[in-house]
Amino acid sequence: MRNAVKQSWITFKSIFTGMGVTIRHFFGPTVTLQYPDERMELPKGARARLFVNIDDCIGCNLCARACPVNCIDIETVAATQDVDLGKTSTGNPKRFWLTRFNIDMAKCMYCDLCVHPCPTNCIYMVPEYEYSEYDRSNLVYHFSNLEPDMVAEVKEKAELEAEQKKRDREEMMRKKAEEKAKKEMEEKKKAEEKSEATSDDKPANDKQGEE
Ligand code: SF4
Ligand code: SF4
Repeated sequence: MRNAVKQSWITFKSIFTGMGVTIRHFFGPTVTLQYPDERMELPKGARARLFVNIDDCIGCNLCARACPVNCIDIETVAATQDVDLGKTSTGNPKRFWLTRFNIDMAKCMYCDLCVHPCPTNCIYMVPEYEYSEYDRSNLVYHFSNLEPDMVAEVKEKAELEAEQKKRDREEMMRKKAEEKAKKEMEEKKKAEEKSEATSDDKPANDKQGEE
């Protein structure tokens, strides 16, 4: 009998303790977010997803070189002399077409190391964290804004210009070699003429000495 009373007391005490906690939180401030209708705002500086403002990118590759897991893949093509790509919003001249600028967010470890070396501050984290995918390949983000036709065109132009420059360089080297050979021939000829003149003077001098 005594035991039953004790058990009943413990039960009632537990119920009232639990209800006390419930009632206390019932009148307190709400902390639960009704996701996805409500979303938590990320704190400033949170590392959630990378973004590249491609219009400000100069293709220097510093971000890709800083990445410890090689998840940034950049391909650049030098702009030909007839093209002015302008400047970035920070005043840096743009000299390269960005034919490829991919970031594989499935590999990214959110270290932020790519962000700091960027001279134009065009690669940075944005507070977007809802980007899960069923297919991992969809986590490769493409930031280049060039259409495939344009990529082919700029590559072809760059190749033609590079070939032309190579031909010009070879022509210049050939001319230099010709000039050098010509100069050497002239010097050799002069030396021979001088040597002949010296040998012609010598017998005459010898004859004078005998007289
Ligand atoms: S945050 Fe780190 S891992 Fe991700 S792309 Fe930048 S350097 Fe690479
Ligand atoms: S460091 Fe900045 S400017 Fe250089 S390639 Fe990367 S994003 Fe572009």
